[in-house]
Amino acid sequence: MKTKSKTLWKFIFFAIIAPILFEPQKATAATESQFWLKETDNDECRTDVLSEFELGQGIRWQLFAENKTSTHEFLKEKISLKKGDALAFTEGPLPIPLRKDIRILKTKGHSKLIVGSTSSLEKLHTSATFFIKIVDLGRGKAQDCGLLETTPRILAGSDKTKDDQIAKRIPLPFGPLKIDAAFLVQSLREFSGDLPIATGRIQERGSVRGREAGQAYLKEEFSKLGLKVEEQCFSSGSYKGCNILGILPGKTNQVLVVSAHADSEKNAGADDDGSGISSLLAIAKSMKSSAWNMTIHFVGFDLEERGLLGSKAYVKEQIKLKTPLKANINLEMLGYDSDNDGAFHVIDCRRKESQNLVNLVKQSASERKSLKVSPYCTNRSDHASFWNAGIPAVVISQNFFGGDGNPCYHASCDTFDKINTTYLYNLVDLAGSVVAKFSEEN
Ligand SMILES: [Zn+2]
Repeated sequence: MKTKSKTLWKFIFFAIIAPILFEPQKATAATESQFWLKETDNDECRTDVLSEFELGQGIRWQLFAENKTSTHEFLKEKISLKKGDALAFTEGPLPIPLRKDIRILKTKGHSKLIVGSTSSLEKLHTSATFFIKIVDLGRGKAQDCGLLETTPRILAGSDKTKDDQIAKRIPLPFGPLKIDAAFLVQSLREFSGDLPIATGRIQERGSVRGREAGQAYLKEEFSKLGLKVEEQCFSSGSYKGCNILGILPGKTNQVLVVSAHADSEKNAGADDDGSGISSLLAIAKSMKSSAWNMTIHFVGFDLEERGLLGSKAYVKEQIKLKTPLKANINLEMLGYDSDNDGAFHVIDCRRKESQNLVNLVKQSASERKSLKVSPYCTNRSDHASFWNAGIPAVVISQNFFGGDGNPCYHASCDTFDKINTTYLYNLVDLAGSVVAKFSEEN
């Protein structure tokens, strides 16, 4: 009898009292999940309930909203979220303070969006209409409540005509960087000829003309980002090439080099290495308005495909100039993950001088459920030029040698449509955090 009554009390506590006491925590998750994104005036957002809900699942989502006419009701979309999906709606030019509080309620598979102030959630603003999209952005850190801009993969409830709409980014408060996903994807599409630019379309970056077009693009983008642009031209045997540098001055003159190669095998080179170039641009964009310890050289190397000629010339030149080169983070092919397992190469060949840097990459990877390290050793990219000079270097790259390399490698089909943008974003997010941490900690 005693045992029975104990069980009964346990039942009463867990079924009735606990849910009340701990509401709106996990006890209510079965029927209603609440996501909070609260932004303070200084652009920080808070994820009180998110951190209760599926902590460790690491849901990322996008928020978009659209203002359709001047008088509106909130649109209550019927959507059901499953774990790993992301809830999205597009933010447009809103007449209301959307960025104050955003609350997403999910009740038995139906979701509705409420925008209001914390204290008066009941008083809904009725001045904008929202449409809601479900976007799978992969799984990042749970506390990444930051709002991405693009729609890498729309799963449901989408309005196709809005796909290209670029929403205003709301900054991430967690971690030092806020990678702009829309910018990342746009840069990649432009650099690999998927989208035209003002001067035409960059069809390939292997011929002299194609390489020059790529370099001109980089110069333009670096300069738009407010970086100091330098061109380092060199000749090597019968080749003439130019590396393009975007320099972000730091508090010290110690230099961290973030690199990718700008040339290609006379193909669109979306993955090889447009993915690396767009990644370094996105990292530069996220870092440009903060004061960092180290000076960062964002470098698009030329003629990697002809024997690492650009990086060799760069290292030689910087040594001549007595530039204190601290390390190189080389970004080589970050856009292919056919099995969505998030595996990527950290290439360090167990070199002693590079272990500090490598540990940062591994640590950042371990903080992310979306990615996992697949070690490999090769000197087949620009990092080797740094190693040859005894400078720490690491490559971040897709699981190329682990059975999931881009089948369009060095082929004409290496185009944007093969790119796994979610994976690319996750890798850039990781690379950016490594760049930031290394810059601050060394
Ligand atoms: Zn490459």
